[in-house]
Amino acid sequence: MLKTLLGAAAALAIVAAVPVTAVAQTVGIAMPTKSSTRWISDGESMEAQFQAAGYDTILQYAEDDIPTQLSQVENMLVRGVDALVIAAIDGTTLSNVLEQAASMDVVVVAYDRLIRDSGDVDYYTTFDNFKVGQQQAQTLLDVLDLDAGPYNIELFGGSPDDNNAFFFYNGAMDVLQPHIDSGVLNVKSGQTGMDIVGTLRWSGEVAQARMDNLLSAHYTDDQVHAVLSPYDGLSIGIISSLKGVGYGSADLPMPAISGQDAEIPSLKAMMAGEQTSTIFKDTRELARVTVALVDDVLAGREPTINDTETYENGVKIVPSFLLEPMPVTVDNIKEAVIDSGYYTEDQLK
Ligand code: BGC
Repeated sequence: MLKTLLGAAAALAIVAAVPVTAVAQTVGIAMPTKSSTRWISDGESMEAQFQAAGYDTILQYAEDDIPTQLSQVENMLVRGVDALVIAAIDGTTLSNVLEQAASMDVVVVAYDRLIRDSGDVDYYTTFDNFKVGQQQAQTLLDVLDLDAGPYNIELFGGSPDDNNAFFFYNGAMDVLQPHIDSGVLNVKSGQTGMDIVGTLRWSGEVAQARMDNLLSAHYTDDQVHAVLSPYDGLSIGIISSLKGVGYGSADLPMPAISGQDAEIPSLKAMMAGEQTSTIFKDTRELARVTVALVDDVLAGREPTINDTETYENGVKIVPSFLLEPMPVTVDNIKEAVIDSGYYTEDQLK
């Protein structure tokens, strides 16, 4: 009898010990779209790094469709995730599902894009988005001889449902506005402000169509010298539009054009002299700080954050970790993305 009891106690002890050691915690990773390579890289890096740290992962992409992302996140909760890492499509549409997450003690991290209008976002990991905008504008100024102006410039903004788009635009205008005020830069269309220059869902086609319109309405007998573009996918659309009316020749040189994300088509366009710059944001690094943060929080440790002032989401200031963005021109492509192992040399051929 005693033996049996001891045996049962031992068995119970083993059973009790098993869940603690053997059941991995699960992280749900909700990414916006596969149509831009950066998000593929973000997702893959996080999946690999979370798994290396002993977590199970559920990674899903929503093809830029808000209801799809919402149901993916709901489904992750049903499957019992311990943490959610979300790069939102529309940063204001997740309040209800996050309330549910909070009631289940699920840790919520807004990834790269701030989730707005919710008190249930625990942390935010991103790059210094205002600085991205400043860098985009500065790379345009760097190739214009400001003393030889004035120059015509047109402005493009990102998706108005993405909080980042306002940071990029405001950062860029912080650099451009003084030159617009002094008359060195002239927004010939008169189109300024995110409500007018924003590009829904960061669509390259929408940007291309808007550039077509700008060119036919304002530039039939004048030249555009610079285009502020906040994202490589838009820059490629803008470049197509410009080439369509003859830009890119000795008589009609390409304007200075910015970008963001160091996507391969844009790096190639830079090497072909068609795009001026991009901003490299190392998604492996963003994944690394995000995995470390989630791991700290789930283990009950204090996570590392470096900004507690900037990202007010309409309900609270979300404690954030900001990484440094890096401007890239044709002069430092190799250093930025090849030497760092982000791409192979072959990918840029
Ligand atoms: C990201 C950018 C990206 C854009 C379009 C933004 O939220 O910060 O890196 O270019 O979304 O995907």
